[in-house]
Amino acid sequence: MPQVSDGPKELNDLLESVYSECMKKIKNETKCSKIAWGAASNAGWHKDKDGNWKKKSDAEIREDELIKKAGIRRNRRGAGRMGGNRAGAGPGGKCICPSCKTEVDHQVGMPCYSVKCPKCGAQMTRK
Ligand SMILES: [Zn+2]
Repeated sequence: MPQVSDGPKELNDLLESVYSECMKKIKNETKCSKIAWGAASNAGWHKDKDGNWKKKSDAEIREDELIKKAGIRRNRRGAGRMGGNRAGAGPGGKCICPSCKTEVDHQVGMPCYSVKCPKCGAQMTRK
């Protein structure tokens, strides 16, 4: 059972109740420990810099959620840009020289048209 030795009773009670509820349904100790700790963290439980378990106030939890949401939005925009750069060419694959047919491995982040053929120096294209 997930418990914090010498931890706050409120935290241990929460861990115990979530864990035992979960064990009734899933009967998987690893999974239920994880779920119990997840519930504790959602409720704002965390270790402070001195190693003591503290519960965040509702205001602090809301603030964290706002920061988290803003971060996710930022990441999504970034991924969108990267997808645009790839323009249908997935990672891996080969580039081929249109004049001598030499093939080289495609480098991620380096489009084939920016690669010169190692044999004849022609601009390569994606195979
Ligand atoms: Zn070539």
